[in-house]
Formats: sequence, C-alpha cells, structure tokens
Amino acid sequence: MHGRRIRKPPGECQDANLVDYEEGVHKFSWAEAHALLDGLPGGGLNITHEAIDRHIAGGRGERRALRWIGRDDQFRDWTYAALGAAANRFAYVLASRGVSKGDHVFTLLGRAPELYAVLLGTLKSGGVFSPLFSAFGPEPIKARMTIGEARVLVTSEAFYRRKVEPWRKELAALEHVFLTECSGSPPEGTIDLAAAMESSPAMFETVWTAPEDIALVHFTSGTTGRPKGAVHVHEAVVSHHVTGRLALDLKPDDTFWCTADPGWVTGVSYGVISPLTNGCSLIVDQAEFDVERWYRILERERVTVWYTAPTAIRMLMKAGVEIARRFDLSRLRLIASVGEPLNPEAVAWGVEAFGKPIHDNWWQTETGGIMISNFRSMDVKPGSMGRPLPGVAAGIVERHGDGSVREIETPMTKGELALRPGWPSMMRGYLHEEERYRKCFAGGWYLTGDLAMRDDEGYYWFVGRADDVIKSAGHLIGPFEVESALMEHPAVAEAGVIGVPEPTMGEVVKAFVALRNGFEPSEALRKELLGHARQRLGPAVAPKDIAFRQNLPKTRSGKIMRRLLKARELGLPEGDLSTLESEER
Ligand code: AMP
Repeated sequence: MHGRRIRKPPGECQDANLVDYEEGVHKFSWAEAHALLDGLPGGGLNITHEAIDRHIAGGRGERRALRWIGRDDQFRDWTYAALGAAANRFAYVLASRGVSKGDHVFTLLGRAPELYAVLLGTLKSGGVFSPLFSAFGPEPIKARMTIGEARVLVTSEAFYRRKVEPWRKELAALEHVFLTECSGSPPEGTIDLAAAMESSPAMFETVWTAPEDIALVHFTSGTTGRPKGAVHVHEAVVSHHVTGRLALDLKPDDTFWCTADPGWVTGVSYGVISPLTNGCSLIVDQAEFDVERWYRILERERVTVWYTAPTAIRMLMKAGVEIARRFDLSRLRLIASVGEPLNPEAVAWGVEAFGKPIHDNWWQTETGGIMISNFRSMDVKPGSMGRPLPGVAAGIVERHGDGSVREIETPMTKGELALRPGWPSMMRGYLHEEERYRKCFAGGWYLTGDLAMRDDEGYYWFVGRADDVIKSAGHLIGPFEVESALMEHPAVAEAGVIGVPEPTMGEVVKAFVALRNGFEPSEALRKELLGHARQRLGPAVAPKDIAFRQNLPKTRSGKIMRRLLKARELGLPEGDLSTLESEER
C-alpha cells in the first residue's frame, strides 16, 4: 500500500502557488504571510476586513464572491461589494441592539443564503461566531450554546420551534433570536432577520479588533465530558489565507466549491474565509448530496478547485466512473479531500474519473487550518495525508507515563501525530476548560490525539485515533454525549458507545446498553431507544444500532471500556485486560 506513487512530471504544475515543496518550506515565514494581508490601523486585524473590504478597497468589489444554489436550482449571486453591504447590515443589526465586542453569536442555519452575511457581519462587529450543525437535535444545541454563553442566535423559524423554543428560557444569556424563513409574524421573543436587515444601513465601520481577539468558537468532541469549544482568534485569517493559497492552490480567478457543511470548522475556514481572502468566487449548494447534481454543478459552474470529503467521494465511486465521464469536468485543476482517511483506491479512482488524483489533507478543529497536505505540484502517495505545510513543524511522538514525550525518528513507526505550536490559526484554548487545554501539550508539542507514521520522505500516514472519538461521515462524535442521552431514558442503567467500521461513512455509531431492573430487552425497546436518541441528539449523532448486554465491561475505577466493546464487536484481540473489573472477565 505504501509503494504506489502518482507522479507529477516536472513542468506540469509550473503555475501552482507552490511549485517546489522544499524551496517553499525553506523560504516560508509567518511574518511574510502576515504581510500578504492588510491589517487594521494600529496593528489590528479583522477577518472580514481581509475577506471582503480589502478587495472592495482594491477595486475588486464588482467581482463575484458567492453563488448560492438553492434546492430548486435557482441561484443567487453576490459580488464582494454586495456581500460586504449585507455583512454591514448584519453588523449594524447587532450593534444597534447593544451586542458588542466579544459577544457570542450562534447560527443554526445549514447552507442558508443568510449565513454568509451573518458570519461576516458578526466578525465585523467584533462579535464571536459559533456555527452549529443543523442536523443536531436539541441536546447538542443546548449543550453548546450553554458552554458558549450565546447572546445571539440566528436560525430558521422551523428549527427554532422544533429545537430551541422548548428550552430557550433555561439559557439566561440568550437575548436575541433572529429568524429566517418566517412564515408570518415571528414567534414571541424573536425577530424577523429579513426585516431587521432591510431597515439597516449598508455601511458599517469595522469594529477594531486585535489579532488576539476571539473571532470563532468551533465545538468539537472528546472522549469524556462535555463538548469542547475551541477558541480561535482573528489572527487565524493568516493561516486561512496562506493554507488556501498553498494547499488548495487558490487564485483570484478560481471558482471554488467546498462541500463541507458550514456547521463545522471546514465549512467556515475553507467554505467561506479562505476563498474570500484569496479573492475567489465560491459556490454553495443548499441541497444534500446527489451524484448527478454534484457533477452537474462541477460542470455548469466551471469549478476549478473542489474541496470535498471521503464519504462523498466513496458515494461517487459507488455510482460508477461512467457517470463522471458524461460531464465535462476539464476545468477542475485541483481536487482535495479532508476529514477522514481517504482510501488509496479513492485517490486512484480520481485519476480514472477526473484525470487527476484526489489530494488528501489533514487538520482538525483545534488547528484551525490545513496542517498536512498533498500539494498540487508534489507526487501523491495514495493513502498518505501528505507533507506538513510550510511554516508547520510536525513529528511522530511517544508519550511516557511520567508525562514526557519522545520524538520517534524511525520511519514508518507508529506514534502520536504532534505539531510544534506557533501557527496563527492554532486554538487559543477550550472555552472555560483550562485543564483540558493544557493536557494537549507536552515537551513543546501540541498532541493531536491521532496516531500516524512518517515515511522516509516526510509523508505522513494516518493510522487511527488515539482515543475513543468516532468519525462518521466526516463528523466527529463524542461517545460520552451519546451515552449521556441514552442514560436519560428510564430503562437504561449503563451505555457504552463505539464507532463500527462501515464502507461508505467510515464509521457508524453503535451503542451497547445494560437495562435497569424491571426492564427486559425486546425489539420494541430497542426501537424506542433508537427513537429517543434520535429525537434528542439528531440524526447525525444518534446511534444507528443498539445492542443489549447484561453488563458492560468496566475498569476497576468504573469507566466503561469502550476499547473492549469495540474489540469484541469486531472480533479483534482484547488486548491488556489488567484494569478490567474482576467479575467481567
Ligand atoms: P474535526 O476536528 O472534526 O475536523 O476532526 C479532526 C479529526 O478528523 C482528526 O483528528 C482526524 O482524526 C480526522 N481526520 C481529519 N483529516 C483526516 C485525514 N486526511 N485522514 C485521516 N483522518 C483525518
């Protein structure tokens, strides 16, 4: 598997932003990367200024910034000037209601056309933007808005009624709720966003923000405890900009389509910020995945750079290469993928279907931007995530019991993927969780929680997660959050949740449940529990399967051994059982 290589003949990618990897690494400096952007007077920096106002001031305001394609295939276009005006209106909507610098603005919108002005307007007003995934149920939404002390929420009327209204009063900090798609007069305590925007001026002076002022909070999941709010600052825009340039090869003439949902970090960093700072025209499709529709969009919109995910690529592969060949996809210059392991076959399939490989890259919510990439100009080794970005130092390390870490130099030796902190989009903390944040660092490294190997040419190979976190269809799911929702059901005494491999989605969530006295396993109860979890957590997080067990394997300190549940489910060796409670053996 590690021997294959897709060569990029010298001279083929002379127009790439990064032509020679070694030279690019050698010459790179973050100071020069900073200098590519404007900044604000007095050493300030603001993401929206760099994404929008810089282009307008540079005479590029009439270029198209965004094409939003609705489910019905009708589209709406915004130039940089028009998107800037819409962002200004939303910034004014916030400011005129007393929402000020550092206040947290949440969205629960999916790929709604309003999202872009809300995101850019929030940052322009000095607010902190936090997107929520629209397939979340009420529990994950409430948990995240509570941790984030949401002052503002922007959502649709339908989502509000179903997912927020029932518990809204419990969130004292939440003052303003703006609704899209209002069917009549908005429900009590909410404001019609369209009406508020309409009565606001199209001019707004950017609130001065320092590079270290908080701009974004992206929620992610760990193995234990509550979701984690990874804090990112305005300086992150430097990473967004240069990683888009180097790893995605973005140029001002590009039509760029990032298929990630804007409820997650990729959909914000690369679905909005990076292509705009690079002056591209971005494509947004409101509809869900559909094979023919996607190829049609690539062809009709003449997409030049396409950033997607393994689950989608596997679904396209399933539909067969013939469909791809029916479309003229010759405009595509670069196809990149992120979020989960990209099978070597998928990389090679790209060559068959599109005449070019799919370029895997790696990063995570905490890193805020792409860290490891198969660059356009570099040979691709199918199955490898690529090499570190210029300005990013990576290593494979081993943790020791005394808290120290040692770097592993021997090629193709498994260890934890670690990065030397210092790039601009690195998280600055987990909201209100200093200890959890501190634990991510040791020996001058940021420890990613992923297991990987590095080969003798410096390419990184993903091995797996070092923890029990589940990746399903590219979405990170914390088993603890699922277990907690199941435990709320009166029949459940204990729950253990794992990811089970599945060919298209990577993993699917499976729960093991021990019942309380007085309850008996039955198909009806299984269905009831599945329904209960789905209603609370939403379809993206809820388990797809539930199995009953008399007891769940636990450590002597009472923690459920998910590793053992998984090994047993998959028929793998059970490993070290020294901490297993004796009656469980
Ligand atoms: P998230 O924070 O939701 O973006 O998830 C980040 C995690 O997704 C990483 O820590 C990895 O476990 C996984 N991941 C992201 N990109 C890749 C990739 N190219 N190959 C394998 N796993 C990946």
